[in-house]
Amino acid sequence: MRIGRTVAFLCALLWSSSQLHADARLAIIIDDIGYNQSQSERAARLNGAFTLSVLPFTPHGISTAQLAHQQGKELMLHAPMSNLKNMPLGLGGLVTGMDKTAFITTLRKDLDNIPYIKGVNNHMGSRLTQEPEPMQWLMDELNSRKLYFVDSRTSAQTRAFDIARASKVPSLKRDVFLDDVEETSAIEQQLKRALQLARQHGSAVAIGHPYPTTLSVLEQIQPLLDQEQVQLVYASQLLPKSLAISAPEPSTNGSSYCPVPRTFLLDDLQTNVDLYDITDMMLSGFFGY
Ligand SMILES: [Zn+2]
Repeated sequence: MRIGRTVAFLCALLWSSSQLHADARLAIIIDDIGYNQSQSERAARLNGAFTLSVLPFTPHGISTAQLAHQQGKELMLHAPMSNLKNMPLGLGGLVTGMDKTAFITTLRKDLDNIPYIKGVNNHMGSRLTQEPEPMQWLMDELNSRKLYFVDSRTSAQTRAFDIARASKVPSLKRDVFLDDVEETSAIEQQLKRALQLARQHGSAVAIGHPYPTTLSVLEQIQPLLDQEQVQLVYASQLLPKSLAISAPEPSTNGSSYCPVPRTFLLDDLQTNVDLYDITDMMLSGFFGY
């Protein structure tokens, strides 16, 4: 009886470990780059394959994008979009009720403002990402520019990812917000959750912000990555292979950044993590994305 139970336990253990991916990869996007110079620059100097998403027409957006590119980071446009709480979007906002001409004009100015971008994700957008028509205009423009899209998923009712996929825009969706609670222990817990999801599904996408607390945690990430055997990669490296966009040119200015080979791309990404989103959605509602 005892032997039977032991065998069953060992089988369960083997089965569960076989469900974990040995080549797990995690992309971490740092949003809201551009307003605070020291925090934006600190994010640009993080060691490793981080992706920075820059708000258009911000005081330090362009200079930080240039620094981040020199440091071997991948760049995205963090496109401001209407939210359900009518919180201010800053310059370059894509707003509910814009006609197509106004929407496209604003979007093009935003895209042209930030150098080196490979993709776009939404800043706030809990309202606009639920609206199919402007999301389609967005995806058509991204398609024509060969840019990818990451749905930040600031609303459980977002349509953005589905419309991106239907429009053949290379796309991902956010699995974990790292710093809704801006405390070291909470951020570490969210980071561990992101690593666990990466191990379970092969890959995961986390989004954080350039808060001092978040940056302190991310500056110490390498031992955790080693321990969990998860590789930090650019967002573009998690795109479906057939649609993947090339990684940024590595810098040759002597930084310690070590690029990942371009050929190291994942097959079609199949994440199924919506169950894990419930807490994030509640927090997102609370924090007013
Ligand atoms: Zn944002």
